[in-house]
Amino acid sequence: MNYLDNSSTTPIDPEVLDAMLPYLKEEYGNPSSRYYSLAVNAEKAVEEAREKVAALINSKPEEIIFTGGASESNNFIIKGVADYKKYYENKGNHIITSTVEHKSVLQACKYLNGDIFDNRIRNNAVSKFVKIKNTFKKVDRGFNITFLKVNEFGQVNQEDFKNAIKTNSILASFIWGNNEIGSLNPINNLCSIAKENNILFHSDATQVLGKIDIDVRKVPVDFLSFSAHKLYGPKGVGAAFIRKNNYAHTPLTSLIHGGQQEYGYRGGTHAVHNIVGFGKACEIAKRDMNKYIKKIISLEPEVKKILNIKYPGIEFLGDQDNKIPGVIGMIIPNIINEIFIKDLSNKVAISAGSACGISEPSYVIDEIGKKSVSSQFIRLTLSKYSSINDLF
Ligand code: PMP
Repeated sequence: MNYLDNSSTTPIDPEVLDAMLPYLKEEYGNPSSRYYSLAVNAEKAVEEAREKVAALINSKPEEIIFTGGASESNNFIIKGVADYKKYYENKGNHIITSTVEHKSVLQACKYLNGDIFDNRIRNNAVSKFVKIKNTFKKVDRGFNITFLKVNEFGQVNQEDFKNAIKTNSILASFIWGNNEIGSLNPINNLCSIAKENNILFHSDATQVLGKIDIDVRKVPVDFLSFSAHKLYGPKGVGAAFIRKNNYAHTPLTSLIHGGQQEYGYRGGTHAVHNIVGFGKACEIAKRDMNKYIKKIISLEPEVKKILNIKYPGIEFLGDQDNKIPGVIGMIIPNIINEIFIKDLSNKVAISAGSACGISEPSYVIDEIGKKSVSSQFIRLTLSKYSSINDLF
């Protein structure tokens, strides 16, 4: 199988797997048990992993909270800030985001908006077992969300952001690099605007970790979301970066009330093997990123050249001068993406957009003004293991 769907997930790096295995075998201690060597070893492994994740973004280790992945981190941060601001600080109820965020940001915001009652209802509706009209129920949770429109590359306009800010705005959340077309948002500038207006700032950085430099001491984001399986780590583990100034984290309500794991934000026994794998993946990214990103960047024009010859009239989407290396979103004339992908599926893995569990046409493509050709959208994403021979 030629694997060209690395934005959906990456293969696990053999070094990562080797680092994880002892924690699935002999080192099975619970890090919260503390006093005997098995537990001490597990706790040490979790803390070392935290240091490695932190090192990749130049954060303090205690600013890294391990979660079950980026969907969880996004939900934790958005709902956690909303809850804290409303119930503890009484400081406002308006959140600003964009229309091309990952579903886990969009749906968390729609939940707060009262526009979804229960995600299962929506999924059932999509699979046509239950009609959305019959099951939809508007709930007033007391939050207002502005979903900003984006430009033809899927990027947020800074003036639009400024104009959307109200006195009751509490949080802005914008994706760092788009998972379908790869465009990067001007996160530095958007974050500065948020800070000037005293609004907390979150970015879903899932697709950029290990692909571009992230330095939280230079970009004053309050929160970031990450997932290990996008950078050659295991599935089911990720992190939330929560800025800590002086002695306190930027406040938000805990995700899982229970034990004191993860500074009390996420109770529950640590998945030590997964956390160790995530740490190792970040350590490798810090060590090798410059090398493998260079390789991916030089492979991209070669891939595009072949695609151009093979599919005349092909259009590459997104900001070609300012994008995530290796993400190639394109419109291929005269195809129907589902059929195209199925026809190739014995040989090569590509996709028609994000892999977030819903078989709908890509809303990102609609939002950048390509609705009429969204059934011709194909996403191909390269990894450090890709070569020109993987191409179809
Ligand atoms: N955000 C973005 C931008 C993503 O691409 C993804 C994965 N498709 C997620 C969030 C969700 O990550 P996870 O699978 O770890 O929940």
